[in-house]
Amino acid sequence: MTPPPSPSAVLRLGDVAALRAQVRAWRNAGETVALVPTMGALHEGHLALVRQAQARCRRVVVSIFVNPTQFGPNEDFSRYPRVLEDDIALLAETGADAAYLPDVATMYPPGFATTVTVEGLTDVLCGPVRPGHFAGVATVVTKLLLQALPDVALFGEKDFQQLQVIRRAARDLDVPVAIEGVPTVREADGLALSSRNRYLSDEERRAAPTIHAVLQRVAAAVRGGAATAPALAEGRAALEAAGFGPVQYLSVNDAESLAPLDRVAGPARVLVAAYLGRTRLIDNVAV
Ligand code: AMP
Repeated sequence: MTPPPSPSAVLRLGDVAALRAQVRAWRNAGETVALVPTMGALHEGHLALVRQAQARCRRVVVSIFVNPTQFGPNEDFSRYPRVLEDDIALLAETGADAAYLPDVATMYPPGFATTVTVEGLTDVLCGPVRPGHFAGVATVVTKLLLQALPDVALFGEKDFQQLQVIRRAARDLDVPVAIEGVPTVREADGLALSSRNRYLSDEERRAAPTIHAVLQRVAAAVRGGAATAPALAEGRAALEAAGFGPVQYLSVNDAESLAPLDRVAGPARVLVAAYLGRTRLIDNVAV
């Protein structure tokens, strides 16, 4: 019997100098480079980003860094899943070229004092309920982009506000990297894949797909320009009936400015954040 083809080895890069040397070597060989930033605990959603990155560029670097500055004091930083060897095995199977694995001291050396904040886009949705979160995200992603200087960096539409914040920061700061969004990967029952789904009990897991069903129902109801308020009230009630609570927001917003909409007249998204037990789930769909 012929053994299955062995997955290619994934280079492990531990600091900025190693990352830059590798990217420089690829560039000198005329190769393009994509970066996929993650916090690890990889699943098919992350791997979809890797595959789209492979379609765009010859080389793909996946960063794995659980970024402390984007977690609030009562959030799940300390219990966030850390499964590095499983992650590396998945990256090897998928054919990613390198994993960038900086530690906290590499990203935030003593005396670190600079923060990237994006105004406006962060005043809505997750911004008010997670103070400091998007500054943490924008700062770490700006650093990762400047450290790697890839041709393209890919982010999931699953975190739609995050994607818009990163696009804005990269544009405003003239970071010479193309930012690309990738559609959300879902389970067969509609639940968006997330590293946090592993926190759900069996019962919560059975209730979780309601979040996607509600988003789709709201999107269908407001598509023709009907007032958004009645559809949102009904959707919120359906979430609560399914055991979600608190529902932090269920909202229809402009797809670019993220301004809340009473009626849809152009590209828009329906977005939600709600707790199911102790687990906070977010999701969104296009209208
Ligand atoms: P995270 O590790 O949760 O920070 O996510 C890393 C990247 O993967 C982000 O750009 C996310 O938006 C993206 N991502 C997470 N879940 C999914 C999903 N289900 N489908 C597509 N992209 C995802």
